[in-house]
Amino acid sequence: MDSRLEAVRDTVLARNPGEKEFHQAVIEVFESLGPVHDRHPEFLEGAVLERLCEPERQIIFRVPWTDDAGRVHVNRGFRVEFNSALGPYKGGLRFHPSVYLGIVKFLGFEQIFKNALTGMPIGGGKGGSDFDPRGRSDAEIMRFCQSFMTELYRHIGEYTDVPAGDIGVGGREIGYLFGQYKRITNRYESGVLTGKGISWGGSLVRPEATGYGTVIFAQEMLKTRGQSFDGQRVVVSGSGNVAIHAIAKAQSLGATVVACSDSAGYIVDEAGIDVALLSQVKEVERGRLTDYAARRPGSNHVAGGSVWDVTGTVALPCATQNELDGDAAAKLVSNGLIAVAEGANMPSTRSAVSVFQEAGILFGPGKAANAGGVATSALEMQQNASRDSWSFEYTEQRLTEIMVGIHDRCAATADEYGAPGNYVVGANIGGFVKVADAMLAQGLI
Ligand code: GLU
Repeated sequence: MDSRLEAVRDTVLARNPGEKEFHQAVIEVFESLGPVHDRHPEFLEGAVLERLCEPERQIIFRVPWTDDAGRVHVNRGFRVEFNSALGPYKGGLRFHPSVYLGIVKFLGFEQIFKNALTGMPIGGGKGGSDFDPRGRSDAEIMRFCQSFMTELYRHIGEYTDVPAGDIGVGGREIGYLFGQYKRITNRYESGVLTGKGISWGGSLVRPEATGYGTVIFAQEMLKTRGQSFDGQRVVVSGSGNVAIHAIAKAQSLGATVVACSDSAGYIVDEAGIDVALLSQVKEVERGRLTDYAARRPGSNHVAGGSVWDVTGTVALPCATQNELDGDAAAKLVSNGLIAVAEGANMPSTRSAVSVFQEAGILFGPGKAANAGGVATSALEMQQNASRDSWSFEYTEQRLTEIMVGIHDRCAATADEYGAPGNYVVGANIGGFVKVADAMLAQGLI
């Protein structure tokens, strides 16, 4: 790392003790930024990095709720409003027991650069709770969401901060959150949340967007080597919203997706995953992959283990942070991998990324490859602002243009800074310069 940035890094790490995922995300970005500071001494003089690493505002609050038996539970709610240089804070809410400040801050920090790369007018933020939705009834989920919004509402708004979904927060939760926001504020403010239902202000393609976008990004990477998805053998991790739509898109382009996973294990389906069945099991029934294997002849469920043991030419990690380590990366490489695109946020550890890059594998980091979700959220905000709704075809075309644009900008930036083919460098520098320029223009705030 550039020595001028080391001191800043040390201060950030010391000031945010115990937030290991945030540290990881910061270090990964700083490692790309030396050459930018050679060309732009004004970023150092303006202490842009020091300011960028300190969220503009952080809200932590109590979320009390009662379960169906009348027992009282208390969870912790978060919203980190990280950077508004380019637009209102924008980013999802994650409901998962692993959520704490370090997770929310890593996600919020990455979101700043991701959102900048989309070219849309959105700043970066993230939030969530350590609430565990697993096994909870609809009524419990609703009470939790209402309690969460009863504090959050005062901090958000279409010009201020626009939350959406992430792990554990989908259309159902956005519905309950929107309903409570409307009830408290007495305003039908469509643009305050994205990921809404299609009949009440949502956008077509938003549910598909992250997964589709990841595959479009991967396809653009493959094209640079004269290849395509046609005939590829693809391994996906996860089986939620991002994974399901990545599988569907990859298969529509001629690939065979042979595996996906959940927290209990993974399935191998050599004939190619049956997306309709997977969606029925995971999204409609909220079941497990064992249910898929029981209903799909020829498929096989492996309890525990790692989905990265399955041989594939393209890997799409779509589960969660740090799910793919250096050993898994080495195994994938020795099994004939040619490309990786991250549908999840920071799924590859730093050593996994090094393994991929040293082996010359095409590697699309999450902040570029999974930006299609938030980009389509920005398209939802556009439709809300103009009280309009667009067709599936038009919205998908806009998503495709945005993803191709992100790919090309990352590739061009990597070339410009002497790291051709390095999408990590391209994404970090491309996102950073845009935000840094806007921060300097807006003065010391
Ligand atoms: N949670 C998604 C992400 O990681 C989407 C955020 C949004 O649509 O605001 O980018």
